[in-house]
Amino acid sequence: MQPKLKIKRDDMVEVIAGKDRGKRGKVLRVFPREGRLIVEKINMIKRHTRPTQYQTQGGILEKEAKIHISNVMLVCSRCDAPVRVGRRTLEDGTKVRYCKKCNEVIDKT
Ligand SMILES: [Zn+2]
Repeated sequence: MQPKLKIKRDDMVEVIAGKDRGKRGKVLRVFPREGRLIVEKINMIKRHTRPTQYQTQGGILEKEAKIHISNVMLVCSRCDAPVRVGRRTLEDGTKVRYCKKCNEVIDKT
């Protein structure tokens, strides 16, 4: 079983450490085993590429590098701020994620 992360694909997160601190972006990919994420426009790295058969133009390609999950926090749409996420089970047995600040349910897990 893969470890469950508190952040999922399509979540809006804010970077809380490193050079991109304070920036927000959407989670594009999650790597649960590594505890890392790819976040849109965050942790951009430059890749020098050479022309290949498929890509006729070489040059510098910018792409997102993985960022560790501990460097980001989920942005609660209600608080409009990075918040801590909790989990709880509703009366009907549904497991949900919720914002620990405003108690708003974020979504089902
Ligand atoms: Zn909230």
